[in-house]
Amino acid sequence: MNENVNKGDGHMETTDVVIIGGGVIGTSIAFRLAKLFKKIVVIEKGEVGGQTSASCDKAIFLQSKRPGFPSKLAKASSNMYRNLEEELDMSVEYKQSGGMIVIESESHLPFMESFIKSQRMAGMDVKLLDKEETLRQQPCFSSHVFGSTYCKDDAEVNPLLLSQAFADAAIRDGVDIRTHTEVIRIKVRKGKVTCVETNKGKIATNLVINAAGPFASSIAKMVNVDLPIKPRRGVILITEKVGPIINGSILCSQYLAAKHLTPEEKLSPFGIGLSLGQTESGNLLIGGSREFVGFNKKVSTEVFSEIARHACRIAPVLGNLRIIRTMVGFRPFTGDGLPIIDEAPGVQGLIIAAGHEGDGIALAPITGKLVADLVQGKKNNLLDGLKLERFALGS
Ligand SMILES: Cc1cc2nc3c(=O)[nH]c(=O)nc-3n(C[C@H](O)[C@H](O)[C@H](O)COP(=O)(O)OP(=O)(O)OC[C@H]3O[C@@H](n4cnc5c(N)ncnc54)[C@H](O)[C@@H]3O)c2cc1C
Repeated sequence: MNENVNKGDGHMETTDVVIIGGGVIGTSIAFRLAKLFKKIVVIEKGEVGGQTSASCDKAIFLQSKRPGFPSKLAKASSNMYRNLEEELDMSVEYKQSGGMIVIESESHLPFMESFIKSQRMAGMDVKLLDKEETLRQQPCFSSHVFGSTYCKDDAEVNPLLLSQAFADAAIRDGVDIRTHTEVIRIKVRKGKVTCVETNKGKIATNLVINAAGPFASSIAKMVNVDLPIKPRRGVILITEKVGPIINGSILCSQYLAAKHLTPEEKLSPFGIGLSLGQTESGNLLIGGSREFVGFNKKVSTEVFSEIARHACRIAPVLGNLRIIRTMVGFRPFTGDGLPIIDEAPGVQGLIIAAGHEGDGIALAPITGKLVADLVQGKKNNLLDGLKLERFALGS
């Protein structure tokens, strides 16, 4: 695998694969590739799962995905979740607890009706619930709520445990994960990757996986490749621990509109739409916002209060809870809601596996498998919809 990599580079450490990024995507890939390669090094500039993968919700939503290819991809990943704890030999608090999208006002009904009609046509088990059925399912909701959609196949997982479980399983299979190490350069010779340079030394390799999430564009820039991935900031409020308040994962139709409609069609200035989940230990995760502000972590109080106001309007009981901390994360946004899993154009041996936006937790299992298929040259139809060229074609 590594012939020629050392030419001119002296006595350099050599490895089969370097994975850049130890988030949920990089660790999932490391876990799958560990079955295929002897020597794999993961380079992570901070902690395992310490960036976006630690500043997010816990939902594995199927019903929120656009019908067609996005929904097919999500289903493939959701199926892999069923055996994942067994494969990883660790609990990741996976539960198929169902998911609900609240329809707060009647004006959102036409959008939601047509959305779930196409979901059903694609074989998804989504029901439209009226006000009474919605309140029976979520007694904490305000009685002004108009209705909801419900999917029993939606699930949840603890994202912090997930990255760690992928990493631990990869380490057991021989992967070397180096934290607090930063990739600063990628060397290419005659169109082929030859070496990854970090702040702690050089590693010769012919295969590099760019799994740097919202930072993937700056990694690609190192070899003059432009990636259409930019950070989209999201904020989550975390409450004190309380007994069970909600059932399953909750979004609102405003969130779906914020996710799928064009900017002109959106109503909220910060892309605010409720996302609500409760951790095993009882903390509520109340989101969320969607803003393009680069990597700026300074959030205005207006955003926090808008999120809280919106959530309390739907579930007034939340107003009695104390917020103990907040999380700010950067979704790796591509513009079409899908990641890029492809070889970089003109750079043999550089694979991009990034751009999962608000679905990286849901799509982590399938991403590992797709990268494994890609590097083995195995045909997988799902890869066809994730190529970088879809942006060049303007589709
Ligand atoms: C508010 C919010 C809510 C969300 N809710 C959900 C949800 O409910 N369900 C869901 O499926 N998804 C959700 N997401 C999306 C999900 O969190 C992301 O898609 C996912 O975490 C992306 O993982 P990643 O591994 O690609 O990126 P990251 O976790 O950011 O990992 C990339 C890693 O690359 C490292 N890195 C970068 N540059 C370098 C370098 N030069 N050298 C070495 N290492 C480097 C970084 O330190 C980082 O750890 C949410 C996101 C946000 C922000």
